Amino acid sequence: MGSLFKVPMTSLNRVGKKKAALFERLGVTTVGDLLRFYPRTYEDWRNPYRIAQAPIGETCCVGGYIEQAHPPARIRGGMTIFKLIVCDGMDHMTVTFFNQAYIYDKLSDGGDYLFYGVMKKNGHFYEMSSPAVSEMDKAGIHPIYPQTAGLPSRQIEDAVSQAVRMLPPKMNDPVPDDILEKYSLCSLDFAIRSIHFPKSQEDIETARKRLSFEELLVLQLGMGRIKGGRQTVSPVQSRIVTDYTQEFFSLLPFTPTGAQKRAVKECIDDMMSGKYPMNRLIQGDVGSGKTAVAAAVCYSAVKNGMQCAFMAPTEILAQQHFRSLSELLCGRGMNISLLTGSVRASEKKKILASLEKGETDIVIGTHALISDNVVFRQLGLVITDEQHRFGVAQRSALISKGESPHIMVMSATPIPRTLALMIFGDLDLSVLDELPPGRQKVDTFLIDSAKRSRAYGFLKKHIEEGQQCYIVCPLVEQSEVMELESAREYAQKLNGTVLRDCRIEILHGKMKPKEKEKVMKAFSDGETDILISTTVIEVGVDVPNATIMFIENAERFGLSQLHQLRGRVGRGQKKSYCILVSDNQSDTTRQRLYVMCKTNDGFRIADEDLRLRGPGDFFGSRQHGLPELKVASMSSMEILDITQNAAESILKDDPFLQKKEHRGLYFETQRLFAKTGGEQLQ
Ligand code: ADP
Ligand code: MG
Repeated sequence: MGSLFKVPMTSLNRVGKKKAALFERLGVTTVGDLLRFYPRTYEDWRNPYRIAQAPIGETCCVGGYIEQAHPPARIRGGMTIFKLIVCDGMDHMTVTFFNQAYIYDKLSDGGDYLFYGVMKKNGHFYEMSSPAVSEMDKAGIHPIYPQTAGLPSRQIEDAVSQAVRMLPPKMNDPVPDDILEKYSLCSLDFAIRSIHFPKSQEDIETARKRLSFEELLVLQLGMGRIKGGRQTVSPVQSRIVTDYTQEFFSLLPFTPTGAQKRAVKECIDDMMSGKYPMNRLIQGDVGSGKTAVAAAVCYSAVKNGMQCAFMAPTEILAQQHFRSLSELLCGRGMNISLLTGSVRASEKKKILASLEKGETDIVIGTHALISDNVVFRQLGLVITDEQHRFGVAQRSALISKGESPHIMVMSATPIPRTLALMIFGDLDLSVLDELPPGRQKVDTFLIDSAKRSRAYGFLKKHIEEGQQCYIVCPLVEQSEVMELESAREYAQKLNGTVLRDCRIEILHGKMKPKEKEKVMKAFSDGETDILISTTVIEVGVDVPNATIMFIENAERFGLSQLHQLRGRVGRGQKKSYCILVSDNQSDTTRQRLYVMCKTNDGFRIADEDLRLRGPGDFFGSRQHGLPELKVASMSSMEILDITQNAAESILKDDPFLQKKEHRGLYFETQRLFAKTGGEQLQ
């Protein structure tokens, strides 16, 4: 099939330049891409309903013959309309088509047809409007493709059916035979044909299993190759010779947790090994004390003559890290600077010069750190916080400022271990699975709008006691105006409630850093009672006096996001609460939101999220700088597990996929990672 990746789309009938451009919008430029462009779902036309049995209001397939056909007529607005009276021998239905006169020409009176659409009942009369039509003997399962304007699924289907006919009689299968056999997977040939034109529901399952297996396997092999390449290619330039961890711990105002000690030790071991640079992910729930771990590692690194760069996704977070690290380390003769977009030019110049001379030991900043004029003398350690916000490309831009520096990635989004290994497959993993002692549980409640005013009363009571609250209202649309408007509108509505006299401020994503900072500062100084926000408070806000997190339309958030939001409260001594408002009554939604009420453990929440929603969201969010996965997002945990085993055993035997039987897999890893930009495969 490899050679079909060189055949342009225009070689297909009914695909000209114009249509090829539309296909390109879907990421399809060659016939090979098209074959790998899988249906989103299917329409099953095989078991048509009788008219009177069809489920009203639902999309379904109904069979019958044409008893009367009224030819197309013009109606107002330049539209054409035609009607059919369809009978199944017992009952009748009226089928109306708008602007689809071409369908009329193909239909014959008395002919048997299938109609796929939404059945409506108007009094005693059954009706369908503009359904898809097919001849009775062509009943089957039809693929439905992701569409783009001007390119309906049926046209994609037409192109795909031509492409399938171009498949060579004997296809090279990238997955070696022994693996196909071991995991009972079908051949690529069967999978490609069946994912597009299945003969049964089982075919779809068989094809999906095989294709998602392949996709995940290729992903893991690609990750493994990156890791393998790093371990053999990169020389170690900066090495920790003496470990200063104990000295650092004695500076802390608290005793580190067992998990913190373990994580620091794992990092220091990596950095002392001399074999290859550290490349480690520190995963820990909100409040698990990742900053102290980072500070500990910086401490030893600086003492061993390295410079460190610490990159955070937001200005607020960078400032916060700057403050915590300065408090801990400044007195120890370490030079720490803050470099963000809002640092004044003169100040910036000074910092840049001092970095280049090697006088600044630790620089903390936003992605301002990756701009070209930032030069280090001896960058030995790169730390990125909340890594999922940075693409792989941004991470590597910072890394390239040193000579294979050690890398530490911190993530506050707990991800189940299996997934973490896959998503961050090129990283080693340390987990902070223990919170510092004395942390309180944030009590969480799920309510519907009917209880909103009572909940406002609850907020009011706490505000009168001098506490503060967050209200989060998510957006439907992401436009700049909307973002401000919806928050303002919400604030306005509060005027009609018990909260009218409270001091209210708005924070939203499109604000300039300076404005944001001002609003945040007022809140953290206690000058604001309620902070209304879109989702920007997700990371990096630390206001111990805030005790209530009130979240509107909670169902719009993923559990992990809700968990992060909730982590903004319960940071001080006072009892804290999280109130989730949702009017969504669906069982799955309620079950999902109840998980939040049951537990405060981020890893348990992530596991539940995975169990309830499948891995799709974790891959689908595209937050991880990962290549886009097509079918794997529909796959199960079971496939995730088995691909992991398969990838491990292949790489153990052939780390660079150089063996003949792995050439197909090699090709596929190149293809998958070529699309992400950023990361290079050796
Ligand atoms: P996160 O993992 O969310 O980044 P932080 O590093 O911000 O967590 O730590 C949260 C708070 O807990 C900080 O105020 C920090 O000083 C405190 N902290 C960290 N480790 C400990 C510990 N072992 N014992 C007590 N408090 C700690
Ligand atoms: Mg943090």
